[in-house]
Parts: sequence; structure tokens; C-alpha cells
Amino acid sequence: MPGAIWAIGETGPDGELARISREVATLVRGLAEVAGREAAGVLVAASPAAAADELAAFVPRVVAADEPLAGGNAVAALVAARVAALVAVEQPAYLVLGATPDGRDVAGMLAALLGWGVLVNATEVGWDAAAGPTVGMSIFGGRQLTTSAFSGERGIITVRPNTVTAEPAAARGSVEPAAAPAAVPTAHSLPAVPVLERVAEAGAAAAIEDARVIVAGGRGVGGPDGFGIVAELAEALGGAVGATRAAVDAGWIPYGHQIGQTGKIVKPQLYVALGISGAIQHKVGMQTAETIVAVNRDPDAPIAEFADLFVVGDLFEVVPEVIARLRARSG
Ligand SMILES: Cc1cc2nc3c(=O)[nH]c(=O)nc-3n(C[C@H](O)[C@H](O)[C@H](O)COP(=O)(O)OP(=O)(O)OC[C@H]3O[C@@H](n4cnc5c(N)ncnc54)[C@H](O)[C@@H]3O)c2cc1C
Repeated sequence: MPGAIWAIGETGPDGELARISREVATLVRGLAEVAGREAAGVLVAASPAAAADELAAFVPRVVAADEPLAGGNAVAALVAARVAALVAVEQPAYLVLGATPDGRDVAGMLAALLGWGVLVNATEVGWDAAAGPTVGMSIFGGRQLTTSAFSGERGIITVRPNTVTAEPAAARGSVEPAAAPAAVPTAHSLPAVPVLERVAEAGAAAAIEDARVIVAGGRGVGGPDGFGIVAELAEALGGAVGATRAAVDAGWIPYGHQIGQTGKIVKPQLYVALGISGAIQHKVGMQTAETIVAVNRDPDAPIAEFADLFVVGDLFEVVPEVIARLRARSG
């Protein structure tokens, strides 16, 4: 059988499987099915058992590498070294990681250690019988969408969060411990980089990628105070607050809330856009929301073209009315 496709897992601060890894593993399973190849997950962590078990819900086979140094140190070099050692033994064809800070670091180091190419920030991954994985990404600040493939038969892909909806497999996979690496790749001999402090992202911003409902504000909210009404509607709907880059750049709301090309990619059930024009760079971050509702006073705003419900009006008139009705209904 031609080379396998591997999902390289990532763990969260408490050793749990990162949400992105469920998405990556779901993607890898789907690709492997289409390609007729083996799908596997690899998890390198200090005490990886629990997260490896979670990963096994998504792929038929998981290799868990216990890396004690990963506990209190920056993980990228350690993960890359162990994965490179496993690749040398098992010869998979493609490695898929999350386009997260750690995922990007690991992908870059693996590219150097293995001499493979990397396609980054995928927002779509398909399979072509002749070319292998086809990777969609946006370039030039979201102005163009490209589809790329590897020129050889090996490669590394990083996938943006919320590109895929995580879905467990019908049957759980097996977990096996990784054999100790026979040859220690160079990155492993670098001095460990200890993590001195971890600072959690502020609550609302941290929740944005997982939120089922997002109410986002743009330049049309008029200033930092305008985000008051955005937050009120978000609260009434039980959702999180998002923003455009225009609002973030103006200093009205922290960067952690930014959605789009240079912000977060979100996939909520409901996305409410208030005073947002719908520029392509914003659209790429929220277009996969199940339902998009936009309030804009310009009937020709570009967001009208892809909103499911487009309300033409002043948000400061429309939104208080909506909030009042929601409260009347729930109270
Ligand atoms: C390389 C690059 C990367 C970028 N990355 C991102 C990104 O990650 N995320 C992002 O969002 N943008 C990004 N941008 C910026 C993007 O191109 C747009 O400039 C930005 O999204 C516009 O934000 P906006 O919709 O809030 O503002 P505007 O485009 O100014 O739109 C404001 C809208 O509010 C409406 N409005 C005004 N007042 C009211 C009112 N009272 N009631 C109702 N409607 C009202 C107006 O009709 C208008 O449609 C990027 C740009 C570049 C070049």
C-alpha cells in the first residue's frame, strides 16, 4: 500500500487532546479513505495516554510517544524530533498538523529534518488520484484562493482551525506505544526551552473558536462603546463577541476577537455581523458559519451577497429591538 497519511496530534495545557487535533484526524481519515491509504495519528507528549486515547476515536491507529521533557518545556523541537524518528522507520507519505503556533513550529522543523515541502494554512484539503493531496489556501491577504499540490510523493500540511468539523469514526482505533527512537535526530540534542509562565487568553476571546453563536462588530459600531451593544446581543444569544480587523486596528477591541484572514477562523451555527461590510479578508474567517445574519445600513454592502438574512437598517435601532424581544421571550 502506498505511504500512510498521519495526523500529528497536539495537547492542550492540561494534557488533553487539542480540539484542532480532532479536526485534523477527521480530515486525515477522510483523505485516507478516498486515497485508499492507511490513516494514523501520532501523539508526542509527557504522559500521552489519555490524549492518545481521545485521538483513537478519530483514526484507526494511534502511536503514542512518551516524551517526559515535553512537560515543562516548549514542545515543538521535541515533537518534531520524535515524529521524524517515527517517519524514518514507518515511511508515511503525508503529515497533517493544525496551523496553530505549535503546529506551525513543528511543521517547519519537520520540513528541515525530513527535507519535505510544506503547504501551510490550508482552508480546504482534497485528494487527487494523480497529484495526491490538493490544498486550498488564500493568498495576498485573502484576495486570491489557490489550490496547490506537492511535486513529490511526500509532504507536510498545516490546516487552519475550523476547516473541518470533527467527527469520531464508527469504530475506535487502537493505541500503541512508540518504540524508543533508534537514531536521535539533531533537534533532540538542542537544549530544552523551559516554559516559565502560561497566560490564558481573556475568557470571551478564548471561547470564540468554539462558540456556537458569535455576534461580531465592525467599523459600523462607531467606537469602543459601540461594542457594548454587540456584547449585549451576544449575551442575550448565549454567544461570544467577534470583530473585524478595522475595529481591532482602531483599538476598539483586543486582537483575540478578530475574525478573518489574519484573525481566527470560526464555524458557529449562527454568525451575526453588525456594521460589517463583508470584505473578503473577513469573509474567509466566517463564511462556513451555518447561518449568517447581517445588519447594515448600506443595502449594497458586499455581505448581502453571502448573508442568509440581510437586514438593511441602523444597527443602533435594529439591535436594541432584537435584544428586547429576546429578553421578553426568555423572561
Ligand atoms: C492583508 C490583509 C489582511 C486582513 N485581515 C483581515 C481580517 O483578518 N479580518 C478582517 O475583518 N479584516 C481583515 N482585513 C481588512 C479588510 O480588508 C476590511 O478592511 C475589514 O474587514 C473591514 O472591516 P469592517 O467591515 O468593520 O469595516 P468597513 O468595511 O468600513 O464596513 C463598515 C460597514 O458598517 C456599515 N455601517 C456603518 N454604520 C452603520 C450603522 N450605524 N448600522 C449598520 N451598519 C453600519 C457600513 O455600511 C459598512 O458596510 C485585512 C486586510 C488586509 C489587506
